[in-house]
Amino acid sequence: MDHIQKQISEQLDFSACWFTPEEIDSITNEGGAYILLLRLAKPVKINLPGHVHHQLLPGWFAYTGSARNKGGVRARLKHHFRPDKKPHWHIDRLTMNAAAMAALPVPAGDECNLLCRILQSPDFSIAIKGFGSSDCTICESHLLATIK
Ligand SMILES: [Zn+2]
Repeated sequence: MDHIQKQISEQLDFSACWFTPEEIDSITNEGGAYILLLRLAKPVKINLPGHVHHQLLPGWFAYTGSARNKGGVRARLKHHFRPDKKPHWHIDRLTMNAAAMAALPVPAGDECNLLCRILQSPDFSIAIKGFGSSDCTICESHLLATIK
């Protein structure tokens, strides 16, 4: 995981710190954006409009999102890190099946900008078009996969 975290951090023009689920209480409760890195150990089926039974294969994925409500990034990441929940967002299907997770909070950041930066790395590509980006007019997707 360290290797992929380093690859992502190298794409950012600021220094930021990764947190594991155990470190959730140290994460800022400010509003902002975040990068969620997760590993799937087995294939996961995703149902999106226009993607009937799309399947994500085992590997590493980077998702970018934002939380600007009360509780900020910490409250949102607490939701992502929790394995038992009713799936509400696209990303919930992945976090419920993740074998490992880590997050990089970016207070006052922008999820589209983060996505764009990670995508500049030759090690990442769009995982599924339209994933997590229904409200976004800029990005093809907010989920990237590592290229194997
Ligand atoms: Zn976007």
